[in-house]
Amino acid sequence: MSTSGEGAGSKPGVKPDIKGFLPDEMRDFLVEMGEPSYRATQVFSWIHRKGVSSLDEMTNIPLALRRRIGEVARITNLEIISRRLGAEGTVKYLLGLADGNCVEAVRMKYGYGTSACVSTQVGCKMGCAFCASGVGGFVRNLGPGEIVDQVLKMNADFAPAPQEGSRVGWVVLMGTGEPLDNYGASVKALRILNAKEGLNLSFRRMTVSTCGLVPGMRRLAEEGIPVTLSVSLHAPTDDLRDEIMPINKRYPIPELMEAASFYAGRTGRRVTFEYALIRGVNDGPEQASQLAGLLRGMLAHVNLIPLNPVTEKGFQRSSRETTMRFFAILKRARIPVSVRRELGLDIDAACGQLRRRYCR
Ligand code: SAH
Repeated sequence: MSTSGEGAGSKPGVKPDIKGFLPDEMRDFLVEMGEPSYRATQVFSWIHRKGVSSLDEMTNIPLALRRRIGEVARITNLEIISRRLGAEGTVKYLLGLADGNCVEAVRMKYGYGTSACVSTQVGCKMGCAFCASGVGGFVRNLGPGEIVDQVLKMNADFAPAPQEGSRVGWVVLMGTGEPLDNYGASVKALRILNAKEGLNLSFRRMTVSTCGLVPGMRRLAEEGIPVTLSVSLHAPTDDLRDEIMPINKRYPIPELMEAASFYAGRTGRRVTFEYALIRGVNDGPEQASQLAGLLRGMLAHVNLIPLNPVTEKGFQRSSRETTMRFFAILKRARIPVSVRRELGLDIDAACGQLRRRYCR
C-alpha cells in the first residue's frame, strides 16, 4: 500500500491530460511550444472556468495552435452515464472514464451552498468491512484531471438552468477510493480547483477524508494547504477497529490520533472524525464513552453517520434511539458532535453502491 504514489495519470506513451495541469505546468507546456504565456491563462480558464472539454470550443485560441495541442496532449472528458435525483437536491452521478471504467460523484445542496463529493480511485484497496467501494477490489488511481472533471461536470450540468448557489463551492474527497493512497493526484486536483485562473475555490472549503494512512496525514499537514482533514474512525478501540478496518493493523489508533493531533497543530484546523453507527457493533454507550475519552482535549469534531446498509456486507444501521443515546454521551462529555444529515440513501449515494450496481 503506497501513500506516496504520485498517480499523476501520465504513463509513457500516453498523451498528458491538460485538464490535470496546474497553471504553471500549462504555462511551461505552451511556452515550450513557442507560445506566449498568456495563452496558458486562456486555455486554463477555458477548461476550468468555462468548463469546456474540447479544443474546438476555445474560440480565441488560433486553430493551428489548437491542432498542435491536440497532437501532443488530450483533455479528460468524463461522460455522464447516469444522473439520479434524490431528496433535497442531492444528485448522484455515474461518470464514465476514457478507458471504460466509471466512478461516482455526488452533488449535495446545503443551506450554505453546493458541495461535491468526488472519487479519487476506481475501487479501493482498504477493505473496510462496511463499505461498498472495495467490494470489487482496486482498479486504478484517478489522474488529477479526472478528479477535477467530476466537479466541472457537476457545474456544467447545472449551467443551462443555474439556481442560486448551484455552482460547486465545497469539495470533499469522500467518494470512492482513499485520497491519501493517491496522494499526488488528489493534492494536485485540490490545487487546480484552488487556482485563481480557474474555479478559485478556497482550500478552507475542501475536505480530505482518510481511513487513516498516517504517513499521508503527516505529509498533508506539511503541504501548506489548509484543507479540513476528516478521519474515518468508526471505532474507539484497536480491537474493534482491527475487525472492521484492516488499515488499523498497520496504523493503530494511538498512531492515528498522534497524526491527527499533528495535523490540527500544524494547520490550526479542527479535525473531523467520522463515525458510522453500525447496529450492535460500535454503537453502545461504552463505545461512546471510550470515544469521548479518546478525543478529550483535542481540536476535534465528531460526525455521526447513519450507516448506509450495503447488501453485500450484512451490517445494519443503528436505531434512532441508539444514535441519540450515543450523541448525548458525547455531548455530555463536551465533545463537539453532529449527526450527518442523511443524504442519498434513496439514490444509493453511499460509497460505491451505484457503481457496483451498474458498472462492473
Ligand atoms: N477512503 C476515505 C474516503 C472515502 S470513504 C475514507 O475512508 O475516509 C468516505 C466515508 O464514507 C468514510 O468515512 C467511510 O468510512 C464512509 N463509509 C463507507 N461505507 C459506508 C457506509 N456503508 N455507510 C456510511 N458511511 C460509509
